[in-house]
Amino acid sequence: MYDVIIIGAGIAGATFASKISKYAKTLLIETQDYHKEIPIKTNIFPEHNRPFIKDEIDWNNKKIFPSLHIKSNYMSDEFNGVIDSKEFGIPLGNICYTENIIEVLINQLEEQGGEFKANEKISKINRHTDHLEIINDKGELYTTKVLALATGSRGFDLQRSLGFEIPDHYIGTFLHLFGDEDKINENLEYDYTFHINPKISRDGPFFFNKGVERISTGYLGQKGETKESILSKLERILNNYKPIQPVLNGLKYDLSTAVVGDISKHPIKSFTKDRVLVLGEAAGLVTAFFYEGLLSGVACADIATKTLIPLLEKDSNFTNSELHKYDEEVRRVLLTYYKNGNALEYLIYNEGSHVKTLWRLYTELLKENKLARQYIYEAYINHDLSTHNTSNDRYVGEKWFGKLPTLSKITLSPKFFRALLL
Ligand SMILES: Cc1cc2nc3c(=O)[nH]c(=O)nc-3n(C[C@H](O)[C@H](O)[C@H](O)COP(=O)(O)OP(=O)(O)OC[C@H]3O[C@@H](n4cnc5c(N)ncnc54)[C@H](O)[C@@H]3O)c2cc1C
Repeated sequence: MYDVIIIGAGIAGATFASKISKYAKTLLIETQDYHKEIPIKTNIFPEHNRPFIKDEIDWNNKKIFPSLHIKSNYMSDEFNGVIDSKEFGIPLGNICYTENIIEVLINQLEEQGGEFKANEKISKINRHTDHLEIINDKGELYTTKVLALATGSRGFDLQRSLGFEIPDHYIGTFLHLFGDEDKINENLEYDYTFHINPKISRDGPFFFNKGVERISTGYLGQKGETKESILSKLERILNNYKPIQPVLNGLKYDLSTAVVGDISKHPIKSFTKDRVLVLGEAAGLVTAFFYEGLLSGVACADIATKTLIPLLEKDSNFTNSELHKYDEEVRRVLLTYYKNGNALEYLIYNEGSHVKTLWRLYTELLKENKLARQYIYEAYINHDLSTHNTSNDRYVGEKWFGKLPTLSKITLSPKFFRALLL
C-alpha cells in the first residue's frame, strides 16, 4: 500500500512527487513513455512561481533555465507595450525548458525512495472507505491511502469517474523555430511576445517564447477547433502574417513537429473528495487571459504537501473535510491574482468588433504609462500572490477606459464596469 499515488507527471504531479516523497511512500505514474525523448517546451516561468519550488531546483542550471526573462512585449498591430524589467529592478523570471525541470523532479523522487512508472495509463479507480485501488490498462493494480490527480487536460474520464467537474477546455499549438543564438537575438528582442488578433483566435494569444537557439511559437485556439484546422492556420500564419515575418527570417522549422493539445481554464468548484486531490490544470487552474499554468502546478504541489504532512503524521482517514484545507489554501493563494485574467478575458476574448481597438489601446497605454508598466512588473515578481493588489489592475483598467473614443466609452462602459466585478 502506498501512502500517496500521483497520476500524471507534468509540472504539477512531478513537483508534488518530489516534495511529498520526503514524507510518504510515493508512486508517480505517467502514461507517456518518458524513456523515449519527450519534446521540450520553452515556457515562461515568472518570478512569482519561485517560492513554491525554490528548494527543489538549481536556479543556475542552464538546462532548466536557459535564460532570464528580461523583456515582455504585449504587441498589437500598431504598438509594442514593452515591460522591460531593467526599468524597475530584477528580471521578470526565467525562460524554462519544462521537461528538463520535470526530469530533475523525477530524479529527486527516486533518490528519496519514491517510485516512478512511465508508459502506464491508469484506466480505472475503485474507491473504498480506507483506501483506493488504481488500475492500469494492463489490469495491474496499486493501492493507496491518498490519490492526487495531476492529469492536466488528458484525464477527464478518470476525473469524471471520481465525481469531479471538468474545466472548460480549449486547443492550442506550438512549434519551435531554430537558429544560432545571434540570429535569434537579432530577429527577436523580447523574451516573451504576447499578441492578440481576433482573426487568429478569439480565445487566446499568438506568442513567441525565446529560448537559446530556439523560439517556441504558436497560438491558443478557439473552443471546438479541430487539430487539422489549427495546424493549417498555423502554417498560413507562419507563411503570410506580415507582423511576424521579421522574427521568422532565416530561422528553420518543421511544421510536422508542431504539437497540438488541449488547455483548460476556469477552476472547477471543488478540488478535493475523500482521499483525493486534484492538482494544476486538471482543476482548471490556469489564468484565463495569459494561460499561465506552471504557476498553479507548482503552487498546488506545495499546498498539497503542506496539507498532507500533518495528516500523514496522525495516520488520518484523509476525509474531504480534512483535505478541504487544500481547497481553501489554493483559492487564497491564487484566485486574487486570477481576477485580473478574468477581467481581461471578458473584455478581449469575445466576438465584438471592438476587440482589435481595445487591444491596440491597451498596448499603447503600456507604451506611454510608466505606472501601468510598473504594476504589471510587480505582479510578475510578487512572491506572495495572495497580496496581489487588485486596485493596481483597476488603475490600469481606468486608464485604458479613458483612452477610448467618446462613442466607444458609451457602448463599452457596462462591459468595463462588469469586468471590475469579476
Ligand atoms: C501552447 C501552450 C503554451 C503554454 N505556455 C505556458 C507558459 O509559457 N508558461 C506557463 O506558465 N504556462 C504555459 N502553458 C500552460 C502550462 O504549460 C500548463 O497549464 C501546465 O504545464 C499544466 O501542467 P499539469 O502538470 O497540470 O498538466 P500536464 O502538463 O498536462 O500533465 C498531465 C500529465 O498527466 C498524464 N496523464 C493524463 N492522464 C493520465 C492517465 N490516465 N494515466 C497516466 N498519466 C496520465 C499526461 O500524459 C501528462 O503528462 C502553456 C500551454 C500551452 C498549450
